[in-house]
Amino acid sequence: MGSMFDSTQIKSGAIVSADKARAVIAAAGGVLLDWDGCAAVGNRPTPEALAFIQRHAAKLAIVSNNSTLLPEDITGILSEAGVTFPAARVFLAGVEGLTYFSRVMGGRTLVVASPRMKALARRVGITMVQAEADVVVLLRDTRFSYAKLERVVCSLMGGARLVVANPDMTHPGVNGKIVPETGALLAAIGACVDLSRIDIQFIGKPSPFLFESACAALKIPPESAVMIGDNAETDMEGARRMGMPGILVSPGSKLSFAQLLKTQARTPAEEGDVVLEDTSRKFVRPSSRFHSVGRRN
Ligand SMILES: [Mg+2]
Repeated sequence: MGSMFDSTQIKSGAIVSADKARAVIAAAGGVLLDWDGCAAVGNRPTPEALAFIQRHAAKLAIVSNNSTLLPEDITGILSEAGVTFPAARVFLAGVEGLTYFSRVMGGRTLVVASPRMKALARRVGITMVQAEADVVVLLRDTRFSYAKLERVVCSLMGGARLVVANPDMTHPGVNGKIVPETGALLAAIGACVDLSRIDIQFIGKPSPFLFESACAALKIPPESAVMIGDNAETDMEGARRMGMPGILVSPGSKLSFAQLLKTQARTPAEEGDVVLEDTSRKFVRPSSRFHSVGRRN
């Protein structure tokens, strides 16, 4: 663990102490949980993440930049692992992008996405075209090609607006593999056209849309939620913009779900009381953060 890693965490405002993280989670009105690279790797949730979801299910929402899965895919994976979770509290950038923004924007839409997501686009009534689109919707498309790139840039040069699932370049895959993300496809488009001159709407984190949708579903204000994710730039930065604390958890991070699950020898109510008097002070004071960085592991 070099100092650069630690300073990234501090800059992002993420909580790095297990004690603090547990206290904030206990006091929070809602827990927003990232999926890829955090709760799951290669769509396989870790046993610790499953236990965490189960424990906090009543106040938890899954908030993911994923643009290839449907909410039912995630709840199906959880169900197979023995955890019942409602699809109505799973917010995915791809689905939200298609069902909300495209409909609101309307018009002739060029959808760059997996066949399943294109089928969803059809189901929600999007008028899909191959050329001269008013809107281009870009999701993670594992069949992205030269021909698709050509179609996208031609539509953009013709004045189309661009809806992008997320700006992530990659997410972690199984066995340390790298999974290219939607941002990498956007970079290819950016090699052909000046993106600063295009009207781009990002759906996923760090944009507020998914955070707001999840908090609305949990019926809580964003300030009373906590975001748990593996990405400083999307999960932590998005949470910071919403005024919500962030906890960085990934396979390689100092904090693990196993640590978040540890219970103190107190009742939940007592724990909540302790948290309420401590949280703001502990979270805001920089000296406290430096202390915890140095102390853990
Ligand atoms: Mg992630």
